[in-house]
Amino acid sequence: MPAKKKNNSKSSSKRQTTKKGAKKGRCKKTSKNQLSEREQKIQEIKKTLIEQREKLLQEAESALNTLPEESAFPDMGDQASAEVDRNFMLRLRGREQKLLKKIELAIEKIDNGTYGICEVCGCEIGIKRLEARPVTTMCIECKTEQEEEEKLLEA
Ligand SMILES: [Zn+2]
Repeated sequence: MPAKKKNNSKSSSKRQTTKKGAKKGRCKKTSKNQLSEREQKIQEIKKTLIEQREKLLQEAESALNTLPEESAFPDMGDQASAEVDRNFMLRLRGREQKLLKKIELAIEKIDNGTYGICEVCGCEIGIKRLEARPVTTMCIECKTEQEEEEKLLEA
């Protein structure tokens, strides 16, 4: 008894609609030649970052040395005043400390080969942007988007 041929092959030709404005693929692939040029520039950036780190550390040290020796809180014990000085330093150098961390992170990324890749979309960050702002972790498009979102949140 032959089975009734059921022509029920409704091949679901409904294609899943791809999201418009997906962040993938807006970056162009760089050729090998460009890559080595890019790598060279990244090595130059690394040198700059190391110099910058040295400078920051030296500045932090000299700032420490120029702190007034006389304690503003004579009633407190040495330990307490040292604690006050340390907190003061931390607040004073907060910006530098943040920058220092960013610099160290960037150097680390250069060493493990993940430097210059946008943390948001995974595209390469333009070398000019990296040269201008070596500690950046976002491509200009993502940074602009983020800033716009922040503006919206603040409004
Ligand atoms: Zn990006």
